[in-house]
Amino acid sequence: MSGTYVVRTFGCQMNEHDSERIAGLLEADGLEAGDDVETADVIVLNTCCIRENADNRLYGTLGHLKSLKDRRPGVEIVVAGCLAQKDQDAIAERAPHVDVVMGTHNVHRAVDLLHERRASGRPVVEILSETVAEDHELFPSALPVVRQVGYAGWVTIQMGCDNSCAFCIVPAVRGPEISRPFGDIVAEVQRAAADGVTEVTLLGQNVNSYGRDLTLRVRGDGGGVTESAFLVGPAAAEERVKVRPLFAELLRAVGSVPGIRRVRYTSPHPKDLRPETIAAMADEASVCEHLHLPLQSGSDSILSAMHRGYTATRYLERLAAARAGIDDLAVTTDIIVGFPGETDADAEATLEVAAEARFDGAFTFVYSPRPGTEAAELVERYVPRDVAAARMERLRAVVERSSRLGNLARVGRSEEVLVEGPSRKDPSRLTGRTRQNRLVHFEPAGAVRPGSYVAVEVTDATTTHLRGHMTELLVAPTHRVRIPVAAE
Ligand code: SAM
Ligand code: SF4
Repeated sequence: MSGTYVVRTFGCQMNEHDSERIAGLLEADGLEAGDDVETADVIVLNTCCIRENADNRLYGTLGHLKSLKDRRPGVEIVVAGCLAQKDQDAIAERAPHVDVVMGTHNVHRAVDLLHERRASGRPVVEILSETVAEDHELFPSALPVVRQVGYAGWVTIQMGCDNSCAFCIVPAVRGPEISRPFGDIVAEVQRAAADGVTEVTLLGQNVNSYGRDLTLRVRGDGGGVTESAFLVGPAAAEERVKVRPLFAELLRAVGSVPGIRRVRYTSPHPKDLRPETIAAMADEASVCEHLHLPLQSGSDSILSAMHRGYTATRYLERLAAARAGIDDLAVTTDIIVGFPGETDADAEATLEVAAEARFDGAFTFVYSPRPGTEAAELVERYVPRDVAAARMERLRAVVERSSRLGNLARVGRSEEVLVEGPSRKDPSRLTGRTRQNRLVHFEPAGAVRPGSYVAVEVTDATTTHLRGHMTELLVAPTHRVRIPVAAE
């Protein structure tokens, strides 16, 4: 193919990462990255369906692209990702100007489907109901990649989710949990490090249960250790000795890859946060002092209705253990307000737990009914919008108080900052992140490239960020600006 492409991503890091892989496949097929939807030859919308506003945004964007397609019939529009998986044929019906609709299990087919579209002259819809576990290439991280930034990379360690949180559509659109072989993950991190990547983020819906399916498959029905399909492949020798590839072991293995200076991961599930994981975070210098531990609610009855598998007390105990084990730990979370049946007392309990947890930040969401999930059926228990909005405001105030205090506690300290680039509001300053994932805007000392590690003296703090000035360049970047990584 020739021409330019643009990929627009809606949603989470998992989707951002799938988009990098789609971009990698398009470039491997001859297309070049463009930055303007108006002139692009191929437009990919990689969709999310976790909340209803994501649906609205997609259909709004498709409405806008209809007039573009009327003006330039040659432009090709691809809708990929979770919403495509959920809505399937409905997208083609609502937006017949879309050329290709593809689901979450066939990211690797993006280019083939575009070729099929051209050959047949008709729109193509391909939604696979599940991922083929034996095929290592199907993990998005095993495909060619165009990273958004050259110095940091996402690595998928697990796809899908085996939990059944009552509010969540993820298991329906991403399928059951499948862990990527241990050795393949480490090999990918080694390749990334050789390209100059110094920060990796391990991605999965419940990273702490990483390896559970591999262990089950190795043990076989009788409980004895047997060889199985996942042992075949580049990492076979390593896998044979690693019968229980736990997440903690993975953190240690990835963290000790030469050149990797920072390891992050998201998301762990509180019910599965094990002491081994905390120990690995404490011991392995490159694993960052940041834990994103989704709380969802502080009310035990709501947690139970959500099927989260922990109580508020249990959550706080796990958090206390993490803080006791890991020096200088920053903690962030996800909280849903207005889950069906949430009373004033439930909302109050969430405020209390949030205050006690002293979060450094939180993604707070108003509950959004997702058709097909258990909670969406509880229509008569839906919380009125204005009530949910008022609860959200109070929750935000509690989280802002602790995140401001957490940031203020950094004033006067020297922080290691990974530089991302010029600050959007004031281009004379640079922006970056500390190991705790705090945003920092700072005055540079001389020319500093994105991907550098610098020391910043923190002089001031707000709820959302730290401010300061650079005192020293710690490590210069070694990555190239664009990195196509070929799959092995
Ligand atoms: N696997 C992660 C976990 O269990 O923590 C969550 C992944 S989900 C993509 C990210 C967040 O979206 C969740 O933690 C939850 O707070 C929020 N979320 C999911 N479904 C939602 C819904 N129906 N309404 C509002 N927020 C929702
Ligand atoms: Fe959704 Fe729960 Fe799985 Fe997270 S753990 S992806 S919230 S079902």
